[in-house]
Amino acid sequence: MSQSTDNISSINPFEIALTQLNEVAKVIKLEDGLRQILANPKRVLTVSIPIKMDKGDVKVFTGFRSQHNDARGPFKGGIRYHPQVTIDEVKALSMWMTWKCAIADIPYGGGKGGVICNPKEMSEDEIERLTRRYAYAISDIIGPWTDIPAPDVYTGGKEMAWIMDTYSALKGNFVQPEVITGKPLAIGGSLGRTEATGRGLSFTVREAAKKMKINMKTATVAVEGFGNAGQYAAQFLEEQGAKVIAVTDSQGGIYNKNGLQVGALRKHKEKTGSVHGFAGAKPIGNDDLLEVECSILIPAALENQITKKNAGKISAKVVAEAANGPTTPDADEILYKNKVLVIPDVLANGGGVTVSYYEWLQNLRREFWIESEVNERLDKNITKAFLDVYDAHEKYGVNMRKASILLAVNRVVEALKIRGLWP
Ligand code: NAD
Repeated sequence: MSQSTDNISSINPFEIALTQLNEVAKVIKLEDGLRQILANPKRVLTVSIPIKMDKGDVKVFTGFRSQHNDARGPFKGGIRYHPQVTIDEVKALSMWMTWKCAIADIPYGGGKGGVICNPKEMSEDEIERLTRRYAYAISDIIGPWTDIPAPDVYTGGKEMAWIMDTYSALKGNFVQPEVITGKPLAIGGSLGRTEATGRGLSFTVREAAKKMKINMKTATVAVEGFGNAGQYAAQFLEEQGAKVIAVTDSQGGIYNKNGLQVGALRKHKEKTGSVHGFAGAKPIGNDDLLEVECSILIPAALENQITKKNAGKISAKVVAEAANGPTTPDADEILYKNKVLVIPDVLANGGGVTVSYYEWLQNLRREFWIESEVNERLDKNITKAFLDVYDAHEKYGVNMRKASILLAVNRVVEALKIRGLWP
């Protein structure tokens, strides 16, 4: 899937997550005991995963599953395969999942898993053995009512299918699709899941445009990263009438002030492997794309792209974060001062986990929803999430990122308080 962690930040992500929590705790005057509950994942499991490699030797990999908080519902979050996975990264990501699910107001807590490995250097058989052994190792702490994993960096439908199969065989030997989401359609995946992140993002942009008095019919859009999230965001914004004028991917970028036709661009990328060289467009680099004159900027590739160096030069009125962590904290402040509305990652890319929730519901009920039902529900849900965050941003006089975490913390704390402490 994503390659976003190739550019992993040297800053400890768990420290960033804690700083965010502590800042919000101050604003809402959260009592320290509750802050401490949220500062620590409820459980972090480290597992050792011995695999027989194709050449006959045995290699031992390390995997994690962090379960941050389940006050509002079962833990939910992806599993990533990457050489740079660390326990602190997984812990931070599990906390961010708690916030993301609370912002989307779906009945889940936050979890995250990871295995330190380089799938690019492994055969499919090795990846299958690794996946099944990891699923076995975490099988006692995941489950349809306890913790429901999903794909993340370098995992996808194939890995989810192996996990479902392994879990089902281990736990009663009957099919349990609801243990995991992001599955292929044939085994209980949901229609609309592939497009969900980009589609959800386009709904938040539509709402932001109303607040910022941007007419979507004359709006212009720049997208960094033309992968899953970026290309569907571009497509759905084009469907709203906006003109996509600049797009980059890992191999280059293109610009045309008269607009790039997203469908044709997708075909070009499918054929050539890149957006580079698209007919009628001029080349553009990432640095220029971020500063290009446009109404809406969508970072959909890597972390730490908008920094204090370029934040002051951004001309867009709305920045919608498809990628996780594309804006550094000091850049956030500059954008806020310049009245650029940032739709933060935990809100803007929440369409993915929301449709994962719909997949889980369909599996539990043994139903199969038509795509329009999925999309309509997603629209209602993410629109409400955007408006809730926007209200908190106005009420507390804080930027949208702080407002979204504040809203999430309030929701989780409310659940914690109502449930109480036992034993
Ligand atoms: P992807 O691998 O499908 O796409 C990533 C795109 O970024 C590719 O087009 C790649 O060429 C491009 N890219 C890589 N390096 C680049 C560079 N230096 N400059 C410009 N472009 C570059 O991944 P994705 O699933 O679309 O995920 C993108 C981001 O969105 C990640 O941060 C991911 O965590 C986040 N996200 C994705 C989803 C989802 O459902 N896909 C959900 C939530 C968050």
